[in-house]
Amino acid sequence: MVYYKTSEEVELIRQSCLLVSKVLEHVAKTIKPGMKGEVIDKQAEELIRDHGAEPGFKGYRGFPATLCVSANESVVHGIPGNQQFADGDIVSVDCGVFQNGFFGDAAYTFAIGDVSEEILELMRVTRESLYLGIGQAVVGKRLGDIGHAIQENAERKHNYGVVRELVGHGIGKSLHESPEVPNYGRRGTGPMLKDGLVIAIEPMINLGRKEISQLDDGWTVITRDKKASAHFEHTVVVRKGEADILSNHSLVELAVKNNPELKDISEKN
Ligand code: MG
Ligand code: MG
Repeated sequence: MVYYKTSEEVELIRQSCLLVSKVLEHVAKTIKPGMKGEVIDKQAEELIRDHGAEPGFKGYRGFPATLCVSANESVVHGIPGNQQFADGDIVSVDCGVFQNGFFGDAAYTFAIGDVSEEILELMRVTRESLYLGIGQAVVGKRLGDIGHAIQENAERKHNYGVVRELVGHGIGKSLHESPEVPNYGRRGTGPMLKDGLVIAIEPMINLGRKEISQLDDGWTVITRDKKASAHFEHTVVVRKGEADILSNHSLVELAVKNNPELKDISEKN
């Protein structure tokens, strides 16, 4: 069942997404070498609850934390822990918020300190692929056009691995609604995109091969070849002509620019 949202519902989802963006902005201001995932997780939960909202991931199918924190070869669903981030790490932070009956969901990958140019380029291309996918999220296109645009850029143009097992999703009263939004696909295939469809688009792109495995913690997904993976996500609503992006990475990226511990990868796009 696909739920198309009214304008009022879209505004509520936007509020949840903007709180997610505020959390990611806070992470961008504070993340540095020596910081632990569990510390940013605690701060994120406080910030969300201070706004009268609830963490969207905590307790979801038993997930124990507010943020998914996935470093280096971790693709997604990392559990924030007591390991310190190191100079040269990339850290993907995924956040969900539940407020006024609706979820918001977005993710950003941060480059801490001296990250190799090869991995910075993976991050740039993953971010760029997200926006290419969003460019297809318009009335009259088909679902496969989104995945095609992402795959075309990440896999065919740049020879990265596009994760198949994990996908974007519809979002609203539930964190994961229909349809699934794969990061691969064929142009002109799949259901037509209609006005009011709210989806999270979230390319997970691997420096090496596309294959993944899961750690014994039951959550953390890693690349099988242990090479780096990047993840960028926005929640968007399909509209005529241009998707409306409900989450907002501009404050996150301003904070990245102003944090001397981080490399800014947003400039070259
Ligand atoms: Mg997410
Ligand atoms: Mg998501």
